[in-house]
Amino acid sequence: MLKEQRELFFGLIRIHVLVHASHEPIFGLAMMEELAHHGYRIGPGTLYPLLHGLERHGLLRSVLKNVGGRKRRVYKITPVGRKALDKARGKVDELHRELHEIHPRKISPLPDPRH
Ligand SMILES: [Zn+2]
Repeated sequence: MLKEQRELFFGLIRIHVLVHASHEPIFGLAMMEELAHHGYRIGPGTLYPLLHGLERHGLLRSVLKNVGGRKRRVYKITPVGRKALDKARGKVDELHRELHEIHPRKISPLPDPRH
């Protein structure tokens, strides 16, 4: 991922993580592969701090679990995370509509350069 785009895409990636954690417990490697499916190529040095951040803010909670003979940190969504995800759903829907709007609502008092 380009450095310049990180800041912009991190919020989207966080929402992807919450979506998956709302359906099943997740762990880093599987989440990285899933994000790659969505076109986000991020490594462990990027994903783990992001997961820790979500946990620090109370949206995820992690436990150490044995997965296929390996100790893995498994993340689950918390009630706070679910609430945030519900809100994000509405906001993403609205953003999606505006992204595809040909003439978004005008917000500047300056004359419209299209006229
Ligand atoms: Zn996904």
